[in-house]
Amino acid sequence: MNPSSKSLDGQSGQHRAVGRRESKGARSTRANAIAQTLEKAYPQAGCSLDFASPFQLVIATILSAQCTDKRVNMVTPSLFGRWPDPASLAAAPPRELEAVIRSTGFFRAKAKSLLGCARALVERHGGEVPRTLDELVRLPGVGRKTANVVMGSAFGIASGVVVDTHVGRISRRLGLTRHTDAVRAERDLSATVPQNHWIAFSHRLIEHGRSVCTARAPRCGDCPLADLCPRVGIKPRRPGR
Ligand code: SF4
Repeated sequence: MNPSSKSLDGQSGQHRAVGRRESKGARSTRANAIAQTLEKAYPQAGCSLDFASPFQLVIATILSAQCTDKRVNMVTPSLFGRWPDPASLAAAPPRELEAVIRSTGFFRAKAKSLLGCARALVERHGGEVPRTLDELVRLPGVGRKTANVVMGSAFGIASGVVVDTHVGRISRRLGLTRHTDAVRAERDLSATVPQNHWIAFSHRLIEHGRSVCTARAPRCGDCPLADLCPRVGIKPRRPGR
């Protein structure tokens, strides 16, 4: 239970002050404390997509758009069994590829992205996945989020903070950003969260979003971040509820 003193609206004075007039320095200090608390709460958090190479992670991340990682992990073994590298995937018959990835949704558009990406890897990068954000985002089907996932989880390079739906929602509740746009939210997070936490910060917030700070019913009373969170947009619970 959050030990801080509570006012009648169920939030501490500290919570209400945060976000309204918090200085940049104070926000960075709080972001650092949030990152450290998450590290203690979710020490093992990591990428939940299965992959054995940077190429596999690029493909799995493209497939994960509008789809659960669990579903993607069910599809990728047969995908990589048939087309194990960029060259073989680039030559895959589109209809056959669509059939294999169908259950991940938006399969026609995703098949097009996968083929375009595999061809670009072969033609521009000798079949290797490039190690810079600029080169990654120029690949078909690869946006900033996918590029940051690959940079962080495949190469261990902290290029930015991955902002998915969980990270965006919780960061707004935590008062670390006001933006719903992922690029702007990432800019805010990169300005306050220490760079040595960038890669793990996203994985940990995703786990936190699945287990505690869920979209519909955040469990603030059980939250390790409660003392650091202004709970932006969360309606206070009435006593007895
Ligand atoms: S569960 Fe509540 S206290 Fe915890 S991060 Fe989410 S909104 Fe903040």
